[in-house]
Amino acid sequence: MLCRVCDSHHLDPVIDLGQHPWCNDFLTKDRLGYETFYPLQLLYCHACCTAQLDFTVPKEIMFGDHTYLSGITKALSKHFRTVAHQVDQRFFADKKSKTILDIGSNDGTQLKHYQALGYEVLGVESSKTTAKLANDAGIPTLNAFFNQQTMDQIGKKFDCINASGVFFHLEELHSVCQAIKACLNPDGVFVVQFLYMKSIMENLAFDQIYHEHLLYYTLETIEKLLNRHGLSMFDAYLAPIHGGSIVGFVSHAGKHSPSMHLTTMRAKETNASCNTLDAYKIFGQRIQMMKQENLAFLKKIKSSGKRIYGFGAPVKGNTLLNYFGIGTDLIECLVEKNQLRRGLYSPGMHIPILLEDEITLLPDIYYVLAWNFKEEILANNKHLIKQGIEFYFPVNSQNSV
Ligand SMILES: [Zn+2]
Repeated sequence: MLCRVCDSHHLDPVIDLGQHPWCNDFLTKDRLGYETFYPLQLLYCHACCTAQLDFTVPKEIMFGDHTYLSGITKALSKHFRTVAHQVDQRFFADKKSKTILDIGSNDGTQLKHYQALGYEVLGVESSKTTAKLANDAGIPTLNAFFNQQTMDQIGKKFDCINASGVFFHLEELHSVCQAIKACLNPDGVFVVQFLYMKSIMENLAFDQIYHEHLLYYTLETIEKLLNRHGLSMFDAYLAPIHGGSIVGFVSHAGKHSPSMHLTTMRAKETNASCNTLDAYKIFGQRIQMMKQENLAFLKKIKSSGKRIYGFGAPVKGNTLLNYFGIGTDLIECLVEKNQLRRGLYSPGMHIPILLEDEITLLPDIYYVLAWNFKEEILANNKHLIKQGIEFYFPVNSQNSV
């Protein structure tokens, strides 16, 4: 295979998680056992250092009708509000009419904050259901995959382009980058938000490896991609969202010099050696140890007669459940608040999903799959903690909110 970023042939497998179902394929009862399994293996490119999956589940399967909703989580909506205000104050405060395009705009959570600041907004969202939710909420949203063809259809340039949590999904990576380059105004700013591989390694958040995430970026690797398309990052910061996400500010190449902060972050990355083959190999060994420790913990709890429920049914939770081999023998159900997942089962391990209002019997322990929202979860469930219910976080949630 060719590297998705630099076209090199020089790639080596570093982490093999085995065969997994597509992790967003939450199942109705009649589909139990009929899900398709695909290889889930991380490769390392020796030429550009980008970590990436070797197998691509077609985007029409993964993003045609997904059920992830940004607006469900208060912390995420708050983060999107902060970003909108920062971008506006820093780059467009004096501009009278301003436009923003959001790529992978989901339910419009990011755009609604720009709309409130007076922007003309447009979302592009591949999921039919989610795009409809956004349109119904008054956020103009095109139901399509963003690429050069979609850009031609839109036929205009924007002051600001945003892509939150989508840049690592892209099967048509270069077409999307070219389209961004083409529809960004000369003084425009592209705000790219992505999971930071350095944080993923530090937190042991291997559950972020799943089929929808084709690429895993550090600053060094995403900058190589952007530079290839005549774009350059001039500032960035690490936000405490999804366990550590970069908010990067990008312009046409040569418009701005890199900020001091970006320079410092690049240096930290180099010092941590996280762009090396060895770093990925060590990461793989630590995941193995984590599996043994977590299984030992759950089996011990279960054998003492206690009841364990999963907290949340996030997509990434399925990587963890399937790789660890955690089924209903250990976790009875996954408790979720996304209504679109009512009555469904987790792909692979077939753990039933219950909505919060369906819980009649409380567990002794919640095994928290939605670990990246630790503070929000602990704050919302003080009453359960007072009753003695334990919340166990399998993944280190340093940098979480
Ligand atoms: Zn490469």
